[in-house]
Amino acid sequence: MLNPEMNILVSPSLMCADLLHLGEEIKALEKAGVDMFHLDIMDGRFVPNFAFGEDIVKAVRKATNLPLDIHLLIYNPEKYIERFVEAGSDIITVHREACSNAYSAVVIIKKHGVKACLAINPETPLREIDVILPEISMVDIMGVNPGFTGKNLAPGIIEKIRALRELVEEKNLNLDIEIDGGVNRESVPLLVNAGVNVVVVGRQILFSKKKSQYEGVITFLKELK
Ligand code: ZN
Repeated sequence: MLNPEMNILVSPSLMCADLLHLGEEIKALEKAGVDMFHLDIMDGRFVPNFAFGEDIVKAVRKATNLPLDIHLLIYNPEKYIERFVEAGSDIITVHREACSNAYSAVVIIKKHGVKACLAINPETPLREIDVILPEISMVDIMGVNPGFTGKNLAPGIIEKIRALRELVEEKNLNLDIEIDGGVNRESVPLLVNAGVNVVVVGRQILFSKKKSQYEGVITFLKELK
């Protein structure tokens, strides 16, 4: 790995948790040592399905002090940023593909004192975001086409992460690289080795396990280099 000093941060995707017992899930995940919580907000247009809204962000905000990593999988996210800030977001991620002007979305997020992150789908090249990299705190590399879980990593993702990590080092940027989708026991060591330092975990690696096994999974992830 190019930056051996960097700790791996684990961000469980609450969409994949047991939604009938979300409060208990949050407590169990905190106890197991996760670093933040990832919430996917889906509009049924940018992605074919629906998930979560600002009310669930408010409810989770009351249940934890850990940072909330809010991933807006919605068209024209600029219109909704303020509502998600008020709901309790610490990081807001918008999609390059869903913004008419990604730069202005980033400016709006930062104006509210929240960390700005840009997400890119598997087929979107890095060159579409490279000029904005100095303005943001994190890039969310989608490992699969968004809107679905439990799939394998799309082709070219490892190479894309490696190229982004090189760019970050070259330009000396203070930028986290998050992988979202396609994370499993086999792919995650390769992803971390390529330069990822924030791992969104879902059903494949975490929520298919019992609560008593969460700590083992988090420890496995934290020890990756
Ligand atoms: Zn996500």
